[in-house]
Amino acid sequence: MELKLILGPMKSGKSFELINFFAPLRYTNTPFGLFQSARNVRDASIQSRNGVNLDAIKIHSLRDILQKDYTVVGIDEVHMFPESDVEVVVELLRRGTKVVISGLDTDYRGKLFEVVTKLLELGPNEVHYKRAACENCKKFDAIYTQVYREAVPLTDGMPSVIPEDGTFTYKPMCRDCFVSPTSQLVLKLANIN
Ligand SMILES: [Zn+2]
Repeated sequence: MELKLILGPMKSGKSFELINFFAPLRYTNTPFGLFQSARNVRDASIQSRNGVNLDAIKIHSLRDILQKDYTVVGIDEVHMFPESDVEVVVELLRRGTKVVISGLDTDYRGKLFEVVTKLLELGPNEVHYKRAACENCKKFDAIYTQVYREAVPLTDGMPSVIPEDGTFTYKPMCRDCFVSPTSQLVLKLANIN
């Protein structure tokens, strides 16, 4: 029925917005479910950096949502799900379910995640593009998430399984400060000349 997307880099308040939307539903008779990828092993609930949290159901595939009838469904960190799971969102909308989804829009290269592209293709009723403070220049203009492997910006591919041992760290970056595979190439060519 209605699709709302909350997109943006790390630390842009996406989870906070999702929690704000769902928190009042706890006091209503509206059947709702909040879901999060089982790949997220760090958090037991959806947590915002403001200290507010809400319990989420851990799932391996969005298909698990279809087992029950919800009026409203929330999905956190949608970038952790495969693009094929967007079929589930289509089915939920067909059933008349309101779907609110949050997640990173771009990957370590600054490219849209496939799953996000597919969601945008559905023609959402609302898209909230959030910004964060750039952790390099401190301007409130960060739209990308820089991924670091041992303090070096990652530009040559992401492992399919991300170790949770602190090898990888994430920082919001603005367009000027973001190091992408393309900007690395430009830098190399400039050095050659
Ligand atoms: Zn910056």
